[in-house]
Amino acid sequence: MAPPHPTDFLIIGAGAAGLMIARELARAGKRVSLVEARDRCGGRIYPLPAREFGYRAEGGAEFVHGAAPVTRALMREAGLSLLRRAGTRWSSRTGALLRDEPSPLQWDRFYQTLEAVRVDLPIAEFLEAHFADPRYDRLRRAVTRTVEGYDAADPRRASTIALRDEWMAPDEGQHGRIAGGHGALVEYLESECRRLCTAIHLGAVVSILDEVGGGIAARCRDGAVFEAKAAILTLPLPLLAEVTLPPATRERAAAAADIGFGNVVKILLRFAAKWWSDHQGQDLSDLSFLVSDATVPTWWTQHPASYPVLTGWFAGPKADTVPSLTAAGLVDMGLSSLADIFDLPADRIRRDLVASRAINWSNDPFARGAYSYATPKTRAAQLAMKQADGDRIFFAGEALYAGPDMGTVEAALTSGLETVRTVLGA
Ligand SMILES: Cc1cc2nc3c(=O)[nH]c(=O)nc-3n(C[C@H](O)[C@H](O)[C@H](O)COP(=O)(O)OP(=O)(O)OC[C@H]3O[C@@H](n4cnc5c(N)ncnc54)[C@H](O)[C@@H]3O)c2cc1C
Repeated sequence: MAPPHPTDFLIIGAGAAGLMIARELARAGKRVSLVEARDRCGGRIYPLPAREFGYRAEGGAEFVHGAAPVTRALMREAGLSLLRRAGTRWSSRTGALLRDEPSPLQWDRFYQTLEAVRVDLPIAEFLEAHFADPRYDRLRRAVTRTVEGYDAADPRRASTIALRDEWMAPDEGQHGRIAGGHGALVEYLESECRRLCTAIHLGAVVSILDEVGGGIAARCRDGAVFEAKAAILTLPLPLLAEVTLPPATRERAAAAADIGFGNVVKILLRFAAKWWSDHQGQDLSDLSFLVSDATVPTWWTQHPASYPVLTGWFAGPKADTVPSLTAAGLVDMGLSSLADIFDLPADRIRRDLVASRAINWSNDPFARGAYSYATPKTRAAQLAMKQADGDRIFFAGEALYAGPDMGTVEAALTSGLETVRTVLGA
């Protein structure tokens, strides 16, 4: 007679966290099914076809930041190397391109004050309490720009203590990109899952999870039903509200309201040549990052690789102000920002444009934003979501990670490993 549940675990979502969980559970001898809404694995790791940009450009995750021990261990296992970030960072203010110059004395005072924080508060309130004086205008702007631009966070909600942990973590390991892109990491994990006989169901949008006969059934929009003894949900936070859950699980999921989730608009522009290399007599051939006050404020190149591609980045609350702009409208916005920064006519820049992509992640139906960030209530919310107490539904994914690398692939992979330890110990 067939067992009541031929599958031990259903993993909903085949992003970095879901693939890692599936691989590790299959390695531990469990029967696993991955159920994924898209027609591909990887989720917010989104490699674009090489023919568009001349290499596998990244529509989602691009950089490996800091120590990232789980990511680096997986890269070693997969035989993937890191392309180290190199080149010069520039900032553009008042139309002129200048080398980025932090003011060391103010930064010293900032970090000392940050270290003394004992009771968490949003970073905007921290700046208001200690750095309201006009002489700190530049410092406040720089901090706010980092919180919005890098963490995709709302400074009125973002936790000062979590940001301190991130900023003051030892700067170990080279920052860079994965040779072959993050897609190569996804392909490796996916091939591992298939080798270990994990079933991968693509194009399956789960809309209901319910309890049936001592197990869990995942019901999809198209009528397909998958059953197992337990389920692990790795969906981006905003998607949790779109899945009907049993009452006890729904209660735990409600804690997600205390975890921040920010948006990113990423604009990729491929040109016929690196027209920015020689800017009014300045040598910008090794330009890496460019920060500015333009509408699309942050840009980077692929340096040290020589692809003539500029990537624009626009994140945090500002990225929520353009929900109805089409991809073409966002590309126009990017081109006019570059025209402002380089003091060139937009038409002159457009003439060299070969290919473009603009992705507003909040318009992606299976992401609804970019990644999470901590608020002062997030650590308690994560604990509440992880307390399964006999429930057969578990939460995992980058938003459930409580270390200094929130909102990253490292966070997703680490959350995956933690979840595997929990469910195998349960
Ligand atoms: C623009 C952008 C840039 C980024 N840059 C970096 C970077 O440089 N470095 C870095 O480390 N990280 C970066 N990140 C963050 C990183 O991509 C994520 O933290 C990580 O990929 C999240 O993995 P995950 O498995 O938790 O979630 P996801 O990758 O989102 O996986 C969840 C999966 O669930 C699926 N799903 C959703 N709804 C359903 C449903 N109803 N039924 C079935 N499946 C469903 C989704 O399609 C998805 O595949 C970036 C993210 C974005 C968006």
